[in-house]
Amino acid sequence: MKNIWLVIPCYNEEKVLPETSKRLKIIMERMIEANKISPESKIVFVNDGSKDKTWNIIKELHNENKIFSGINLSRNRGHQNALLAGLLTSKDYADAVISLDADLQDDVEVIEKFIDQFYNGYDVVYGVRSSRKKDTFFKRFTAESFYKVMKFLGVDIVFNHADYRLMSKRALEGLEKYGEVNLFLRGIVPLIGFPSTIVEYERNERFAGESKYPLKKMLAFAFNGITSFSVKPIRMILNIGFMLFFISVAMMIWSVIAKIVGGTVVGWTSLMISIWMIGGIQLISIGFIGEYIGKIYEETKKRPRYIIESFLK
Ligand code: UDP
Ligand code: MG
Repeated sequence: MKNIWLVIPCYNEEKVLPETSKRLKIIMERMIEANKISPESKIVFVNDGSKDKTWNIIKELHNENKIFSGINLSRNRGHQNALLAGLLTSKDYADAVISLDADLQDDVEVIEKFIDQFYNGYDVVYGVRSSRKKDTFFKRFTAESFYKVMKFLGVDIVFNHADYRLMSKRALEGLEKYGEVNLFLRGIVPLIGFPSTIVEYERNERFAGESKYPLKKMLAFAFNGITSFSVKPIRMILNIGFMLFFISVAMMIWSVIAKIVGGTVVGWTSLMISIWMIGGIQLISIGFIGEYIGKIYEETKKRPRYIIESFLK
């Protein structure tokens, strides 16, 4: 009988927490009763510096029933860091940890299937969305493009898998060894190794409240994912640079010939266009390089990724 912990990052989730905790408790108690998981198993809510009553609700849940635990971060550190705090704290007690969102978008009935696969000997079980029918067109389009771009850039991620997954203790110990500050869990987990499998599920609508991932955060997340894992953008810039160089040599030859043959009218338009275009490309290139240097700068400082204010076990 294994000790299974659920980890749920929460940022301003007062509207969904009462329902989420109720449903998860039912599932966990059912499995404890069936002797499928240990009675020591827990549901851990990680409060990511919420501005609403989220932490109070978590404290109340913990007082009512010790199946609920809470981790309070010292301030908002973002979804990935909150998740990491929960995973790394839980791994000291649990045999396997399942991470899921607070908003019930991930079908909680699948938890049992994850655990079955864990008993079958898999260290990592990825929850994969079988369809995104219930997402808005915009969310579906942006999210699926993101996975495709990542694949194109050579980053090994599981298509349509978010952060709904089971990880065994030894997989989490592996994860702990990745000390990077710019953490992108979806990219790192496949790198850890160990036997893994997938379980499909239907993605639901958010139960209540609104998405904590507005477009701005989504773009930042995608950009971070790409620059943390791939040096392809830098190579692409280099290639564009070479291409422009050859084009400019051709242009030089052509303009000299045109001058000798005569009848040239100096084109203001083409001049302006090229100045702007080259200027633009240069700025983009410098920006990209700056992005990587910024990453190096952040990593060399080795700052903590999260600080726990309190842990209600
Ligand atoms: N979340 C968090 N910190 C943040 C933003 C989000 O812990 O700064 C949590 C949030 O409470 C939820 C999960 O991350 O449990 C996923 O967020 P959300 O459901 O808003 O994202 P979406 O499903 O819209 O992509
Ligand atoms: Mg959600």
